[in-house]
Amino acid sequence: MRVFVVNSGSSSIKYQLIDVATEQVVLSGLLERIGQTGADGTTGDAADHDAGMRVVLERLGDEASSIGAVGHRVVHGGELFTEPAVIDERVEQGIQSVSALAPLHNPANLAGIRAARSALPEVPHVAVFDTAFHQSMPPAAFTYAIDRAVAAERGVRRFGFHGTSHQFVAGRAAALLGRPLDELKLIVLHLGNGSSAAAIDGGRSIDTSMGLTPLEGLVMGTRSGDLDPGALLHLLRGGLAVDELDALLNSRSGLLGLAGSADMRDVTAAAAAGDVDAALALDVWSHRIRHYVGAYLAQLGGLDALVFTAGIGENAAPLRARALDGLGHLGLALDEARNAAASREARLISPAGARVAVLVVPTNEELAIAQAAAALVS
Ligand code: ADP
Repeated sequence: MRVFVVNSGSSSIKYQLIDVATEQVVLSGLLERIGQTGADGTTGDAADHDAGMRVVLERLGDEASSIGAVGHRVVHGGELFTEPAVIDERVEQGIQSVSALAPLHNPANLAGIRAARSALPEVPHVAVFDTAFHQSMPPAAFTYAIDRAVAAERGVRRFGFHGTSHQFVAGRAAALLGRPLDELKLIVLHLGNGSSAAAIDGGRSIDTSMGLTPLEGLVMGTRSGDLDPGALLHLLRGGLAVDELDALLNSRSGLLGLAGSADMRDVTAAAAAGDVDAALALDVWSHRIRHYVGAYLAQLGGLDALVFTAGIGENAAPLRARALDGLGHLGLALDEARNAAASREARLISPAGARVAVLVVPTNEELAIAQAAAALVS
């Protein structure tokens, strides 16, 4: 089956037509600056998502008739969605109803869904949620220790994100190890521009580092990750406006805030050239990763494999080594040659006979969405 995967943002539509059996991308593309007009009068690729979807359909040409299902990336499924869902009016309303939890993303996802459903009304559409995989977290892991009534009234709890990636990577890791997923204790480190760790026991997420929003947890490209909530109060009382605080934590923190660039390649190059801010940024980045690895080892009560994925996790051998530095006593070690070998395949990078397998597994969220949609409609 061929699945058309749509990732609709507020001003962009990314799409891929994927043959699920062969895992091949038949066609892919991107529309940008939807609904925007530049200072010089230039307009974006489409006036709105409906017009954008018509452009996409034109680009698809004859291939459109080969689409068996459409898979939509949806950021937030709240507590409503624990797995992918075939989209109908009720599901659209559900996505709408949890929009307050992801005000930048869900409305944009929904605009894409509505446009795609009217452009391709004959085929089933499936929503695949970034949060759904982590709905298996137990209350002990998803509950913040604040007044229960306030938390319930305001919907404040941990959700976690990158679920599609964590689930996909866990499945591939099990295949690589040649063992059933439901027997494995895994830690997945999704280290990209956005980063999160997940503890996965028998194929179920039992903890993850992102929380109510994708701000919690690891040090990211521009996001702070963990911070004492008292620091927020301190900044607000010091006169920072709420929007300024939002911009500080989401857009001006992380590697960018510490070292002046959100791109890990710049930061490692600067550190190698002797930049002390960049060196500290790498120390904070890896310290935070070890903090979560240790925590998840304790929560899992053992570990079969630790898996690196996403831009940094897949490509940066020295940073993988740095992240696990000093964890040999936990059975976590790297084989230097295996770690350094350039490859785009899923692979083992720990020494032969190591107590814990360390893997690199490329993530592929579009393929994961296509697989989920195909599985649901066939
Ligand atoms: P996103 O979360 O936007 O999908 P990616 O998963 O593509 O991001 O990860 C992007 C990050 O990966 C960037 O910080 C980039 O610098 C980093 N990265 C990619 N290749 C390398 C590399 N060889 N060494 C270090 N960092 C890398």
